[in-house]
Amino acid sequence: MKIICIGRNYADHTDELQNARPDEPVIFIKPDTAIAQSNLPFFIPEFSNNIHHEVEVLVKINRIGKHIQSKFAHKYYNEIGLGIDFTARDLQQKLKSKGLPWEKAKAFDGSAVVGKWFDKSTFGDLSTIPFALYKNGKVVQKADTSLMLWNIDEIIAHVSQFFTLKIGDVLFTGTPAGVSAVEKNDKLEGFINEQKAFSVTVK
Ligand code: MG
Repeated sequence: MKIICIGRNYADHTDELQNARPDEPVIFIKPDTAIAQSNLPFFIPEFSNNIHHEVEVLVKINRIGKHIQSKFAHKYYNEIGLGIDFTARDLQQKLKSKGLPWEKAKAFDGSAVVGKWFDKSTFGDLSTIPFALYKNGKVVQKADTSLMLWNIDEIIAHVSQFFTLKIGDVLFTGTPAGVSAVEKNDKLEGFINEQKAFSVTVK
């Protein structure tokens, strides 16, 4: 399986990092080795001193497809979740400044937290799903899916022009504002639609 991530999909986060607002979705991929082992802590890797949390709504693909039209995209997923796109911000800035790809900063082992999955029927309207990330009991990121620049179906349509989507692939749909560095012993808890999706301790 592969993990396809969307960058700069919330205007408030794009602005907080002083990035230009994109005119089409920004895409990058993480390998399956990026998936964090559940029930294990997140270990800060030695190559970074500035690992940021990015809480994101996740979508699990349940049918193979390519060139999927937006109006049919809803047939390609049944489950929605919540996760973290851990980012080595210092390394990412260095790579970006040289015009190089972000992979080392985004796709390293353990960088993709994939929380609990929920049947999409439990959400009602998918365009207004609330979600939040708490760090040590305090809310640090809070948004809802109406703030996405491209919604789930539009993301699937765009991504599938370039990459065949396969059963079990996971989409990370971008993070809202509020990203910040994690420190040892931080506890990160994610909630979607008031339901707890994950709890991760940083080590
Ligand atoms: Mg992200």
